[in-house]
Amino acid sequence: MKLQENISLAPYTTFKSGGPARWFVEAVSEQELLAALRFARERRIPVFVLGGGSNLLVSDAGFNGLVVRIALKGVAEEEHGLFSVAAGEDWDGFVRRAVAENCAGIESLAGIPGTVGGTPVQNVGAYGQEVAETIQSVRVFDLWSSEFVDLPREECEFSYRASIFNKRLKGRYIVTRVAYRLVPEGLPRLAYADLKTHFAGHQNAPTLLDVYDAVREIRNRKGMLIVEGEMDCRSAGSFFKNPVVPADMVGRIAAQAAVTEADVPRYPARDGLVKLPAAWLLEKSGFTKGFVQGKAGISSRHTLALINRGGASAADVMALRDSIVAEVERRFGIRLEPEPVVVG
Ligand SMILES: Cc1cc2nc3c(=O)[nH]c(=O)nc-3n(C[C@H](O)[C@H](O)[C@H](O)COP(=O)(O)OP(=O)(O)OC[C@H]3O[C@@H](n4cnc5c(N)ncnc54)[C@H](O)[C@@H]3O)c2cc1C
Repeated sequence: MKLQENISLAPYTTFKSGGPARWFVEAVSEQELLAALRFARERRIPVFVLGGGSNLLVSDAGFNGLVVRIALKGVAEEEHGLFSVAAGEDWDGFVRRAVAENCAGIESLAGIPGTVGGTPVQNVGAYGQEVAETIQSVRVFDLWSSEFVDLPREECEFSYRASIFNKRLKGRYIVTRVAYRLVPEGLPRLAYADLKTHFAGHQNAPTLLDVYDAVREIRNRKGMLIVEGEMDCRSAGSFFKNPVVPADMVGRIAAQAAVTEADVPRYPARDGLVKLPAAWLLEKSGFTKGFVQGKAGISSRHTLALINRGGASAADVMALRDSIVAEVERRFGIRLEPEPVVVG
């Protein structure tokens, strides 16, 4: 175990901002993870589990404890279509491999940055797919019982951007492997308007690889694919969750936005609720693409992505976050919930 001190966390995040970790270690095996946890227990210091840093906002003060970067590697195909993948594997790399082996179920999740271990945490989803549909089980270290256990999907309590790992039992489990059951020789699912439009007029039905490539192309257009050095990519992806509200609020929202009820974009959710695009609420509150607030701003290609325009501190990003939350709440009475995890 190679323990390091006072390591800047900014390079380990896609936002490229934030302070240092007092202690830092990369765990390449379950044994190293246990050794790291022992170190933290002996010193009575808190532990933060870091994956690819693509859903984080690290405070400028950093983390006064031990950051364990999950770097366990390896993909085992236990039977055709059933993949057991170590938590430190790059997610997009695994999607590419699954597609190359003609296994369906995650092709629309191409290009999402971060690690495999990060995917169950917020039930990663995009373009009509989410990992809850294909995860069979999650191997975790249980910090309460101090043992490794396999949690079947049913115990993970998956819902929209949520799971047992970021909600009810947040902080209890460290993910070391995830098993995905994919569909060998399955067909891609074109559930999303952007994807349907992309393939409209194509003669042949798209293959899994066609969908993988198309999703990455669409993501790239929106700055939702990490391209080193591009300002629009210094983000944590969509910064706010799409709020779910009672359907009878739509009339009031329309009046406040000065549009007709029919013009309020929304998608049916469970129990008579509707999901509103957070991006629409931002735009109707004056926060449009390319918005600038000091060194922070909004991506020129995607309204929901707050960005570090260069040299932004975490406080700069948080100030923009707070301006947006306050203005959307003032106009629409809806309190937006940020997606990234704030560290420190
Ligand atoms: C450009 C861009 C586009 C994005 N697009 C999408 C999208 O389309 N859909 C989507 O859902 N998300 C999207 N995201 C968000 C992000 O990529 C995902 O949430 C990703 O799964 C986070 O994984 P990570 O390894 O980077 O986790 P990190 O950011 O390192 O950590 C996030 C949280 O997960 C916890 N965590 C990480 N690994 C483990 C582990 N092994 N065990 C226990 N806890 C762990 C951390 O403690 C932290 O609380 C996007 C982000 C960016 C920057």
